[in-house]
Formats: sequence, structure tokens, C-alpha cells
Amino acid sequence: MYKFIMCIMCIHLYVLCLHTPFSVFQLFINNQWQDAVSGKTFPTINPATGEVICQVSEADQTDVDKAVKAARDAFKLGSPWRRMDASHRGLLLNRLADAIERDSAYLAELETLDNGKPYAVAYMVDLPNVVKCLRYYAGWADKWEGKTIPIDGDFFCYTRHEPVGVCGQIIPWNFPLLMQAWKLGPALATGNTVVMKVAEQTPLTALYVASLIKEVGFPEGVVNILAGMGPTAGAAIAKHMDVDKVAFTGSTEVGHLIQQASGSSNLKKVTLELGGKSPNIIMSDADMADAVEQAHFALFFNQGQCCCAGSRTYVQADVYDEFVERSVERANRRVVGNPFDLKTEQGPQVDQEQFNKILGYISSGKREGAKLMCGGGVAADRGYFIQPTVFGDVQDNMTIAREEIFGPVMQILKFKTIEEVVERANDTKYGLAAAVFTKDIDKANYVSNALRAGTVWINCYDVFGAQAPFGGYKASGNGRELGEYGLENYTEVKTVRNTHTHSNRRIP
Ligand code: ADP
Repeated sequence: MYKFIMCIMCIHLYVLCLHTPFSVFQLFINNQWQDAVSGKTFPTINPATGEVICQVSEADQTDVDKAVKAARDAFKLGSPWRRMDASHRGLLLNRLADAIERDSAYLAELETLDNGKPYAVAYMVDLPNVVKCLRYYAGWADKWEGKTIPIDGDFFCYTRHEPVGVCGQIIPWNFPLLMQAWKLGPALATGNTVVMKVAEQTPLTALYVASLIKEVGFPEGVVNILAGMGPTAGAAIAKHMDVDKVAFTGSTEVGHLIQQASGSSNLKKVTLELGGKSPNIIMSDADMADAVEQAHFALFFNQGQCCCAGSRTYVQADVYDEFVERSVERANRRVVGNPFDLKTEQGPQVDQEQFNKILGYISSGKREGAKLMCGGGVAADRGYFIQPTVFGDVQDNMTIAREEIFGPVMQILKFKTIEEVVERANDTKYGLAAAVFTKDIDKANYVSNALRAGTVWINCYDVFGAQAPFGGYKASGNGRELGEYGLENYTEVKTVRNTHTHSNRRIP
């Protein structure tokens, strides 16, 4: 059965490679496929083999200028986009969701090829959530209402929720399609125009979605999608004088640069979703089998490449030994290999740079005295595969307990009391997510209230929904994505005060 499905997939990809128009790998500006002005291209790599998949046009500042001009023109007063009924914007988003759903199998294959994530995950997790996110925001398009406000005096006062304008959106490589949907959904529902820069490691699926954006009828210039490097194309967006807002998901290090670029250019609005070092707290009364499985998932899901990965697993002393033993047994059972094999749980890391960085963190863990319980090495002789790795006896001050590893490396730490673990869990510059496993509702409430993090899961992990906001405290970012809160970052609130006419005023 597996062989049969694999065979079908390979044929599908091969046929698509032959028939996909070359234009899919160009830049998407003003609903047209264009080469970079410089003519430059860069290769995108299959991380499972290290081989080049294809060349992609490489945008730089000149292309960003072109895309911003297209987005600005599309945003002009009286343009088709500005005059479009809000309900019709919702319809276009729904049509985009339908087209993505129609092409889910292809998009999931392309995502797996370019990113390395298991096909089963791309198809069963990423794609359905992309579709749900777009449909969720499609529904908001004509429901994001202002207020009428009873100010003093004889005035009629109301607020309008208006689009911010041209939005720069810079997205990462760990969930390429999903991050694209999280950004496009609220921006387009609220009537903005977009210049998106996709990650250089994974440009292909976002560019394919560009062809669907055109197909379903978004007007020219409303969405522009560029592939290119961070320090050139990304930085050009962040400092652009004609971009009104930038939304960024990526490393905290680059988050600082984005904020600075706004400060030294036009003070564009900035929302950031950055790194994390999320604590996952296992109390001794937790259901052991469930906690082990969930903590494994919290760390290893998506090859460990999640900003909200549960990367500090705090375990209460009386169950610590059993938890470590069972976690090691689970990590040893994790199936690493060809991401197109439906049995595979873990594919390759996204690129050589991440691969080297993770191996560097594993060395530092060993050097600083953490106990390597399993893994720790390379898992295949080609591609960027790393063995599922578990460290025990990790101390709070070790590099692997403080820095984001972004790989399949689990850190297990021991604690005694609930007060102690809350203090240690909060002792980090990050505040993206956290979790607690316990059967005691009082403990769950205490911990979830006390943790300084944008999301807290209780007896579960990585549960997401387009309806619920996500974002960080502290250096994990600012602003929230998803849910109704996600609309606020794409909206200017205009207050209108209208003097009643003289005759109106005399009406009792
Ligand atoms: P990672 O280290 O995980 O690759 P990055 O923060 O470097 O994360 O990348 C996330 C996104 O930010 C990518 O699209 C990348 O090209 C972009 N980026 C990187 N450097 C810059 C920069 N200096 N200015 C703007 N965008 C950048």
C-alpha cells in the first residue's frame, strides 16, 4: 500500500515538474510573473537529499520597490480593491481557500520537497489548517465593525475600522504555507494590500499559491509575493518609506532589526512573532503515559522546528527517573527517514545551516555537563537528518536550556515544588508558550496564571485554531495573530465626529 502511494506521488511530482510553468519560480508582482530586475536567481534545495530542486528569481531592493508601487496603486482611493464590497473580499478569500483545498495534494508534496516535513503531516495538518485559516478570515471580512459612541454634546460619533495600507509580510520556512495564510487572511479580510517576502529556504509553495491568488480573481497589485534573501529583500521591506506596516515571523535576532528599521524609517507599525524557549511542566500527578507522549510531540513535532516547541521539559522529582526513561524509549522509537514515506515521523532539518547549528548545540550540551541519554548524531549519510536526541540532568544555566535550538533535541530538567518551577520557567527572555500536565485543577490554574507566556496549554500541546490568538510576551514578539485579535494589527481606527445640523439640534 505504502509503495503504491509513494509511486503515485513520485509520478505526480514528476509530471508536475515537467508541466509546471517556469513562471511559477519567478516573482509575483501586480498579478504578473517577473524575473528579478538584476536577473539573479538562487537555488532551492531538497533537504532530504541536498540536491537542487530548481532556481528561483532573487528579489532585491529594486524588486521590492516595484512590488510596493504595485501594492500602493492597488490601495489608491477608488481602486477596484478599495471599492470592492467587504463581502466580496470575503468571497475571494473563500475562493482562494477552495483552490488551495483542490490542490492540497500537490501543495503538500511541494511543501515536503522544499521543506522536508513528512508528507503525511503536510497533507493532514498544514494544508487543512491553511484552508481553515483563510475561511475563518473570509467570514470576518464584512463583520469587523466599528462603534457608535455617545460623546457629550450634540454630535454623532462613530469609529470606522480602516485598512492600514501597504503591509510588508516577512515569513519563515518552518510552516511556509501556514505562515502565509496566517498573514494573508487578516490582511486581506480587512482590505489591505500586501508585499510578502517568503523564506529563501522554502519559496515554492507560496509562489504556487500566488498563481491561485490570480486565478480566483484578486485585483492586480493586491498581493505581491517575492522570494529573496533577508538582508536584501527583507531589509528593503522593513525600511521602506512607503510600507505602512510590517508583520514578521522569525528569529528574535532579526526581530530586533525589523523594529530598528521601522524606527529609523517611517515608524511603520510592527508586529513580531519571534523565538521561544517554552517550558513544559510535568507535575508528579500527571498521567505518565500521556505526559511522555505529549512532551515528545511538544518538542519533536516538525523536526523540532517550532517557535513554540516545548524545549524545557521540567519534571517533578518523584517521577523524574521514570519520565526520562520513558521519553528516551519514545525518542528511540521515532521513525526518521524519507519524508514521502507515510510511516515517517521525522524528516530532515530544513538546510545545512540549521543542521550545523543543531549539532553545535548538541556538542555544547555534552560539553557543559548535560547527560546525553540518546541520539546526538547525524541520522543519514545524505540530507540533513539528525537523530532524535534527549538530554537529562539539564541545568537552567546551560546553553541548551537558554537558547532556541530549533531541532530534535529534548532538554529534561528536574524540579521539586510548584513555586520553584514557576520561577524557573519564567526566568527566560522569551514568553511565547508554556504547558502544564497535572490532574489537579488548582495546580493547573496556578501555573497557567503565573506563567508569562502568550499561550498556555493544560494537558495538551500545540493545539491551535484559527479562532484563538497566538503571540508572545517579552522577546517572543508583540501583537497577536489569529482570531479576532489578529484583525487589530491590520486596522486603523478612525473616529468620526459629525456635527448635527442646526435643524437636527432643535429636534427634542
Ligand atoms: P531563521 O534564522 O530561522 O532562518 P530568520 O529570522 O533569519 O530565521 O528568517 C525569517 C525570515 O526573515 C526569512 O524570510 C528571512 O529571509 C528574513 N530575514 C532574515 N534577515 C532579515 C533582515 N535583516 N531583514 C528582514 N528580513 C530578514
